Amino acid sequence: MTQLPSSIEDLCLKKGMRMTDQRRVIAKVLSGAEDHPDVEEVYRRSTAIDSGISIATVYRTVRLFEDAGILERHDFRDGRSRYETVTDEHHDHLIDVESGEVLEFHSEEIEALQEKIAREMGFRLVDHRMELYGVPLKNGDKS
Ligand SMILES: [Zn+2]
Repeated sequence: MTQLPSSIEDLCLKKGMRMTDQRRVIAKVLSGAEDHPDVEEVYRRSTAIDSGISIATVYRTVRLFEDAGILERHDFRDGRSRYETVTDEHHDHLIDVESGEVLEFHSEEIEALQEKIAREMGFRLVDHRMELYGVPLKNGDKS
């Protein structure tokens, strides 16, 4: 069966990266990830496809993709680096500190406010990181 290259594999090829079978599997796992997996999780999913892949290979490959600007690394304060594919559409993150679940959001209000603050301080904003840490509201919590 012929498989279309995953989006990450596609980006790698465009950047002239040499793609081994193992790199291709890891690229596929990362392309298909809808969460923000850490290396251990990428390793777990990759070895489910190809048991010959070592954790060292996953570390190296993820690092390679990150250096190429294909993957973005996040540190959500739990001591594990998490990864997601770099996209054109910007979003920020809300981290549930109880479950570790990472939710994505986008707020035009926050974006505009950040631009405004930077401008007022004499800067043109080129990037930012916005992370919210919270616990789920329980029944009875009033907003
Ligand atoms: Zn994200």
